[in-house]
Amino acid sequence: MELTDTMQETGVIGRMGIFDHEEVLFCFDRPTGLKAIIAVHDTTLGPALGGTRMWPYTNEQEALSDVLRLSRGMTYKSALAGLDLGGGKAVIIGDARQGKSEAMFRRFGRFVHRLNGRYITAEDVGMSVHEMVNVRKETPYVAGLPLNMGGSGDPSPVTAYGVFMGMKAAAKVAFGTDDLSGRKVSVQGAGNVGAHLVDHLIDEGAEVILTDIHEEKMEAIRVKHPKVSLVAPEAIYDADVDIYSPCALGATVNDATLGRLKCAVIAGGANNQLANEAQHGKAVMDKGILYAPDFLINAGGIINCAWERKGYDRDAALGQTAAIYDTALRIFDRSRSAGIPTFQAANEAAEERVQSIRRAGLNF
Ligand code: NAD
Repeated sequence: MELTDTMQETGVIGRMGIFDHEEVLFCFDRPTGLKAIIAVHDTTLGPALGGTRMWPYTNEQEALSDVLRLSRGMTYKSALAGLDLGGGKAVIIGDARQGKSEAMFRRFGRFVHRLNGRYITAEDVGMSVHEMVNVRKETPYVAGLPLNMGGSGDPSPVTAYGVFMGMKAAAKVAFGTDDLSGRKVSVQGAGNVGAHLVDHLIDEGAEVILTDIHEEKMEAIRVKHPKVSLVAPEAIYDADVDIYSPCALGATVNDATLGRLKCAVIAGGANNQLANEAQHGKAVMDKGILYAPDFLINAGGIINCAWERKGYDRDAALGQTAAIYDTALRIFDRSRSAGIPTFQAANEAAEERVQSIRRAGLNF
């Protein structure tokens, strides 16, 4: 279900009822200027883990919509990845380029701590390790810390590996083989995930077409992999490829791009690739494109974080991330046999797991 304006008119508790959110904490601190919202969507499977995003929302309604939507997404992501974690997320209303202070993030850490472990935070857009270190001063309920602090370090190589495995599963269904050698793959975004994904693709012998809004990021990858072709950001939608891999922004599968995409598979790391889940999920299916749901195949980062809590073991994290391949095949199969879009098959599978654990009384 998409949040519509009509739904936004209902009060906060009314909006929590749309997706069955358990708890929403509003945080305000005048001395540090902190304004934050923490949303705990569902803790059936375990403590709600999800990052904190700092963003200059234009109003509180926008911030609330974002945190409600993102926290529910985390419930589904962890449920599908087989993790014993629930879904949560936090947003800090503010400009990440200014106004940050040690005190602000320590204050935020205190709010996280008050939830007594029901919510575990991590880094997201607008946050850096520096801020997470300050949050950690006030609460142990933080994941994704640097290796030298006993954490699991940068999650993006693990995320990229999961995206690669999910892409291979999609290729198996779409092309009859998961071997990507000779396949043309367009990668949108030469950032952390995109760069590691290109490594895997080149190792496997795929032909990579890459774009980014920052020339130097693309060039850095081409220095390492001279065969990679570079294109302008807008040209990526017109590239004649087998697979389109969005690894930059969300909402790139939309009314304007759908008619241009020539791929048979969409499989990338970016969150919320479908501009409108219901509408574009169906449109993609009708066009004969196999869409690998983003929250299914980009779960490597959260799997990495989950291992940090058990005592970090990189090989175990990679092993569990490799299982995204089998999960993706199951979701594609479910989608095909029920005649429903892949995102819907993935949502249903995630909900089923949560409900079965709840029915059995095995809640966290
Ligand atoms: P990043 O910031 O390192 O990389 C994003 C790249 O996209 C940047 O190089 C940026 O210049 C580029 N970009 C921005 N707008 C663009 C455009 N219009 N066209 C082309 N390129 C553009 O981020 P990241 O960590 O690589 O994450 C990429 C995506 O994957 C994000 O959507 C993120 O939310 C998602 N994701 C990341 C992880 C992780 O472990 N890092 C985990 C799950 C999901």
